[in-house]
Amino acid sequence: MTQHTVLIVEDEKDIRELLAYTLRQEGFAVLESGNGTQALELARKKLPDIILLDLMLPGMDGLSVSKALQREAKTAAIPVLMLTARGEEIDRIVGLELGAADYVVKPFSVREVVLRIRAILRRHVAALDEPLLCCGVIVLHLQAHTATVRGQKVDLTLTEFRLLADLLRNKGRVRTREQLLDTVWGYSFDGYARTVDTHIRRLRAKLADEAERIETVRGVGYRANDAQDAEPERQTQGR
Ligand code: CA
Repeated sequence: MTQHTVLIVEDEKDIRELLAYTLRQEGFAVLESGNGTQALELARKKLPDIILLDLMLPGMDGLSVSKALQREAKTAAIPVLMLTARGEEIDRIVGLELGAADYVVKPFSVREVVLRIRAILRRHVAALDEPLLCCGVIVLHLQAHTATVRGQKVDLTLTEFRLLADLLRNKGRVRTREQLLDTVWGYSFDGYARTVDTHIRRLRAKLADEAERIETVRGVGYRANDAQDAEPERQTQGR
């Protein structure tokens, strides 16, 4: 069995040490942090399998840490189990849809936390076994036929899904409208080129912040672009 690494972010030393002790007993590798800024650095550097994140932290709080994790492609997929003390905090987590995999309310039983961690990891590992197509923080789960952006599900129609899948399969390469019609719709007529544009527009609207990942190549077609992740130097040297 592979050993999973848990990053515990909790400023209350007693709770943190109890969690760390129990998780080590349970066979996990454990990283610990008492503040948000350091936790974020650790997460980037060590890429833990799961993060136990206390909401109320000195300095950078749990919500800010969670948001920062989700902004980066590298850390966006790490599941977060939130530790929270108060009722209204739960509403905030759920309301903001921060992509927390789950949460536990203090005071919690350590047993409960371990069970939740195992359940989240099981779900996560199952998801990882699926064939995926990625472009930055956009991920297509080919078997489940779902799309996520920073771990948040995006509802796509079947056509939009196929369109995005084709672009991601050919990431970095231009796809002409004819090619897209052919692979996505199964036919190619000049008169239908606008159909592609219409669906691209809808797809971009659903991708929101990540719409720029689908570039228009003037007079040719469209291209999925993940240059930001793959070749950062291109960003600075470009035009
Ligand atoms: Ca705290």
